[in-house]
Amino acid sequence: MLHRQGTLDWPPLFNKDRKMRGIHCAGAERYTVREPLTEVVVAHRIIEVDIHRRGWRRKMARLDPHSYTDSSHPLAKHVALTLYFDFAANTIHGSALLTLPSAHTGHLLLDTRSLLVHSVIDPVSGAPIPFSFPSSDDPVFGRPLSLSLSAQSAALIVFCTSPSSSALQWLSPAQTASKAYPFVYTQCQSIHARSIFPCQDTPAARLTFSARLNLPSPLTAVMAAARAADTRDPIAGEAGPACSDALWCSPGRAVEEFVMDRPIPTYLFAFAAGCIASRDVGPRTRVHAEGGLVLLDAAAREFAGAEDMIRAGEALFGPYEWGRFDLLVLPPSFPYGGMENPMMVFLTPTVIKGDASGAQVVAHELAHSWTGNLITNKTNEHFWLNEGFTTYAERRIVEVVQGEERAVLNTGIGWKGLNEEMERFADNMEFTKLKPNLEGIDPDEVYSQVPYEKGFQFLWRIERQIGRLAFDVFVKKYIATFKFQSIDTETFLEFLKVNVPGIENQIDLKLWVEGTGIPPDAMEPVSTIYSKIVSLANEFKQGKIPKEEEVADWSGQEWELYIENLPKSVEASQVASLDARYQLAESRDYEVKVAFLQLAVSSGCKEYHGEVESTLKQVGRMKYLRPLYTALVHGTGDEEKMLARRIFAEARDSYHPIAQGVVQSILAKHS
Ligand SMILES: [Zn+2]
Repeated sequence: MLHRQGTLDWPPLFNKDRKMRGIHCAGAERYTVREPLTEVVVAHRIIEVDIHRRGWRRKMARLDPHSYTDSSHPLAKHVALTLYFDFAANTIHGSALLTLPSAHTGHLLLDTRSLLVHSVIDPVSGAPIPFSFPSSDDPVFGRPLSLSLSAQSAALIVFCTSPSSSALQWLSPAQTASKAYPFVYTQCQSIHARSIFPCQDTPAARLTFSARLNLPSPLTAVMAAARAADTRDPIAGEAGPACSDALWCSPGRAVEEFVMDRPIPTYLFAFAAGCIASRDVGPRTRVHAEGGLVLLDAAAREFAGAEDMIRAGEALFGPYEWGRFDLLVLPPSFPYGGMENPMMVFLTPTVIKGDASGAQVVAHELAHSWTGNLITNKTNEHFWLNEGFTTYAERRIVEVVQGEERAVLNTGIGWKGLNEEMERFADNMEFTKLKPNLEGIDPDEVYSQVPYEKGFQFLWRIERQIGRLAFDVFVKKYIATFKFQSIDTETFLEFLKVNVPGIENQIDLKLWVEGTGIPPDAMEPVSTIYSKIVSLANEFKQGKIPKEEEVADWSGQEWELYIENLPKSVEASQVASLDARYQLAESRDYEVKVAFLQLAVSSGCKEYHGEVESTLKQVGRMKYLRPLYTALVHGTGDEEKMLARRIFAEARDSYHPIAQGVVQSILAKHS
């Protein structure tokens, strides 16, 4: 608990020794003083002076443990971005015109990470606005940019991103499918938008935006936003202070413009630029891909059912509010399965495998259009409101378009995953809570299935209690009530108690939300196929491998469930026999391949090290990197640890910065 209570001597603020006065917490210190009862968050020197001048009675508190945004400051409602892409230097020269709801005097704290801020200007008078940074960066949270406003309602910030921006992955032509053109894309969740532009980088804040992008031809850009105009030539003067006209209007450059008129949290800000092909696959769905026409064809086939899914979602959760539902297939380094960027979902190419399970990732990202993008968790401590709801919604959509049996298998894989997270966090059960305390914790570091699967279980438990019909009515009302708002768990619970009177007497809500582990009334799914797979997996312990007729109609999901239910480590010879019969290590389905390779490494089968290495060099999806690197560092001898370090050294540049950080931390824990 990063909180200290007690009476502090005046003034504690200038004490240089943080350890003496408070507990270091993401570059800030939090004190609670008894007289008067005021909570003070001391972010950095500039705020220290400010508090000193204004005295103790001023209440300052962060809105979010992962943002420097101050609850006493106004929240920006719009940002107009001008961005010049410099592919040679892997940087963006930009300006951000932030608009506040009303004139503000005093400090305004914005999140930044690895940004170089050149100047801040009053867009009305053209006068400079004073700004400052603390002397040091917090490695996880970055550093707050403090503007000193005087009756101003807008600020134009001129900045440049760093090549090491944690949200951006810059791919050289050799790293792309085109081999001819570079590529760049964003991943802003959880706290990476601040490495692209200065912002109040908390999901508690929502804003609209417009963006003007200047790119070298023939590259094109796509954004999680509406296209505002056709690609055109640059115009002198339009870049303002973001970059010189000589640069902006240099030969071979083109401008693209986008607008997002629905207020979004910053983690949903997204673009990609490169050699991108596209094709319509439905009335409101176009597939875009970097990987050329072969990949585009495969993607168009895989996602042909998108419109059916949208309609299923609308029937369950209400109108689709975002207009377009486009899909962007990214290079294999994309660190997630999918990212629910509004109007344009970002996807890993590993979801394209020609069976039902790929579409399930799309169902998940689509479901976020209601739960996550319309109703957003206020901070990452309430992440289950995004992910638990979306996992529930995803399975409901899958049930409609692919049948109940598919949805049950999906739930079964999730159930196994949830149980495994309990082992992962056995020494730190805080992270098995639905609502954990994440003060000072990097959300990427503790990313897990808990908010997804425990959140799903909680909602499924409520559904079982009140019946599906009543629960469907409740969910629709919940979405209609809180759309375009950012809420916390308490708000959800209040709404639940008001709309389902007496629910707190039927379900132990406190245990579900605040308790560690898996509550006793969570449930493993039941179905004939699911039970058959689990019992076949149990028979493996007695040396039995499933017969060919038993697996004849298995697809990737059945195999995934089977392998996940095998013991963590088995006889090496058994692993080899299983693979000899079913060629799992060479599966084109990465879920199956990675689950098998993880088992092989844990069982000490060194003959699979080559396949592990090539897999870790082909894809950068964290769902695969995490288990494989973890299995290697937990290996029986030093050989596996050394292999992990060598592969990472060689593959590192091909991973997104977020994935680089995650692998680095896995290796560091076992060095
Ligand atoms: Zn999700």
